[in-house]
Amino acid sequence: MSTPFEPGAPPEKGIIPLSVPHLEGNEWVYLKECLDSNWLSSVGPYVSRFENELARRVGSAYAVATVNGTAALHVALLTAGVGPGDEVLVSTLSFIAPANAVRYTGARPVFIDAEESSWQMDPRLVEGFVRDRCRLENGRLVNRETGRRVRALLPVHILGLAVDLDPILDLAKEHDLPVVEDATEGLGAGYKGRALGRMGALGCFSFNGNKLITTGGGGMIVSDDKVKADRARYLITQAKDDPLEYVHREIGFNYRLTALQAALGCGQLENLDSYVERKRAIARAYTQELAGLPGLTPMPRPEGSSPAFWLYTVLLDSAQARLDSRALMRALAERGIQSRPLWQPLHLSPAHQGAQTVGGRVAEKLWREALSLPSSVGLSQEDQARVIEVLKTLLG
Ligand SMILES: *Cc1c(COP(=O)(O)O)cnc(C)c1O
Repeated sequence: MSTPFEPGAPPEKGIIPLSVPHLEGNEWVYLKECLDSNWLSSVGPYVSRFENELARRVGSAYAVATVNGTAALHVALLTAGVGPGDEVLVSTLSFIAPANAVRYTGARPVFIDAEESSWQMDPRLVEGFVRDRCRLENGRLVNRETGRRVRALLPVHILGLAVDLDPILDLAKEHDLPVVEDATEGLGAGYKGRALGRMGALGCFSFNGNKLITTGGGGMIVSDDKVKADRARYLITQAKDDPLEYVHREIGFNYRLTALQAALGCGQLENLDSYVERKRAIARAYTQELAGLPGLTPMPRPEGSSPAFWLYTVLLDSAQARLDSRALMRALAERGIQSRPLWQPLHLSPAHQGAQTVGGRVAEKLWREALSLPSSVGLSQEDQARVIEVLKTLLG
């Protein structure tokens, strides 16, 4: 039997997967067009078409396609001015990619705990850190403890829910700090009427196999600022300075998306609205059916947000529930149902040992208690009913 830890992999027969791609639109048509026209690499119409369509969908002026979401974060941080010796405030309850991207620039992450009600980066902790643990030095915000400059804020919208971003945006404005949004799990979701990813200076998306829409692997940077979008495009294209001659003033990267991937993305994007609708219906059914089970807390729906519920996730309080989250994960796996825990909070990660942290207890509790349930766009009502029935049997 397949392990419960491989999101995006094709499931074995009879297994209800956590989250798998859903291809039912024009993906084949566009892919064939791409192959027939011989536009395979990073030039040709499909890359700019995918960029334009994603920008329009999100409401951003510009979009730059990248090889994956991690590369998008790396280049977005560089574009925001982050460099060696700087610090970036990052959510501690997150997949590791954004913290790694901070390190690729030579900067250091400072980890910010989650909020109990939304599971997202706590804006009050960000405010408190800037107010009490930083000082101004020649107009620059400097961390009193480390002496390093705080150069950017990197809130991560996890699981298709929104960070409470307004207080963070206000603070960023006051201190002239760019906000880079990690919206890799937040495509299709909104916050107070705005799309996730388009509220900061730069926003990043991912089209990895387990994300809401996929190109196999891929990413995107969005911005309303032409200078930043041009800079990002320059950096992902080996910092090539001349359209003809191979001259470069800087060290760039080969981080471009290929036309084949973009063609897939164009097909996927056409179905985004219906995918989000499906995710919301899945979330509604889980919330309705599971809410009464002892020790189980359904996924929150933070005020003012319109979640896309990328992965539907519940909490299990081991003092009240019959099984803790890991025992439940094993019991589900034995019954052919994939599920998975959230990420080890980054302030506990050996890979980021020694990083400064603000709080951390909330993220630790969420990590212990959380379990993500099957949430594929293609999850049938019968399969979801089976998951719910098994959960009721195991926990009721
Ligand atoms: C998926 C993901 C990424 C990275 O995207 P890739 O395309 O896999 O590189 C970054 N941040 C978060 C929170 C993610 O979930």
